[in-house]
Amino acid sequence: MSEHPTIEQYEKSIQEGHYRAYKCVDCGAVLALPAGTCYGCGSNKMDWTDVSGKGKLISFTVIHIAPDEFADEAPYYVAIVELEEGSRISARLSGFDPLKPEEVKLGIPLVLAYEKGKSGKTYLAFKAA
Ligand SMILES: [Zn+2]
Repeated sequence: MSEHPTIEQYEKSIQEGHYRAYKCVDCGAVLALPAGTCYGCGSNKMDWTDVSGKGKLISFTVIHIAPDEFADEAPYYVAIVELEEGSRISARLSGFDPLKPEEVKLGIPLVLAYEKGKSGKTYLAFKAA
């Protein structure tokens, strides 16, 4: 059993291009976003789990006016993706023209990718499978 997962390690795993989700030790639920307690059973015993990286697009929005930190990167997509494991996460959407959102179809299969921002920070992203 690995060490108790922390937000810091979670962020670091994305920076290193090795995204991992939380997994509830008690009921096995996969939590794509870090949480202190399981939203399935309320347990606070968490471990890491690797995910398949496959998912589908649930919803998205185009950010035109970004917070200062990301201002140089706008416009860009922020998507809600449902992982194959059943948990949802928000991430960038890569490989689509942000000026043509009508070309992005809900429900399309996606795979985990990473996007390097202009700041040098790596973001969790998904692209068409
Ligand atoms: Zn649980």
